[in-house]
Formats: sequence, structure tokens, C-alpha cells
Amino acid sequence: MEDAGNRHSADLEGIKLSRRQMLRGTALAAGTAATLLGTAGRAEAKMSYQASGYQATPKGDQKCANCSLFKPPSSCILVDGDISPEGWCRFYRKK
Ligand code: SF4
Repeated sequence: MEDAGNRHSADLEGIKLSRRQMLRGTALAAGTAATLLGTAGRAEAKMSYQASGYQATPKGDQKCANCSLFKPPSSCILVDGDISPEGWCRFYRKK
């Protein structure tokens, strides 16, 4: 009986701790999410080379240098990383 009572107390204590931990966890999660959103917000605005199909060579007349999304000297509004003026991706948009 006493064991059951102790276990119950321990369980209750465990629940209290869990609730406390959950509250702390929620606060941490909210802070982390806010931080990640700040970072991810910027990351989401830019696409990876792979996702965009970026290549460092032009596709016919189409190349980053004459794409409206290109930001000289070597970046792009849409695609992350170093972008060559001679590059191309499937989101090419003529200037
Ligand atoms: S083609 Fe345009 S959208 Fe694609 S990487 Fe070059 S500048 Fe960016």
C-alpha cells in the first residue's frame, strides 16, 4: 500500500516536473522557433542550387547576367550562394 502511495506521489511529482518541463520547453521552443524563423525566413526566400536547377553555364542566350533576378556582381534574388553572371537556372526571367 505504502509503495503504491509513494509511487503515486512520485508519479504526481513526475507529472509536476513534466508540466514544468513542458512549460520551459514551450518557452524554449517558442524562442527557438522565433530564432529559426528569423534564419529560415531568409533561407526560405532563397532556393538551393539543386532546387533551382542552377548550372554555372548559360543555356543558349539565357544567362544570369540578363536575368531580372540577378544581383550583380554574383548573387540572385531567388537562388542562394555565389551566382555566376554566366550561370542559368530554370527560373530564368528575361530582363
Ligand atoms: S537564371 Fe536568374 S533566377 Fe536563375 S540563378 Fe540566374 S539570376 Fe537567379
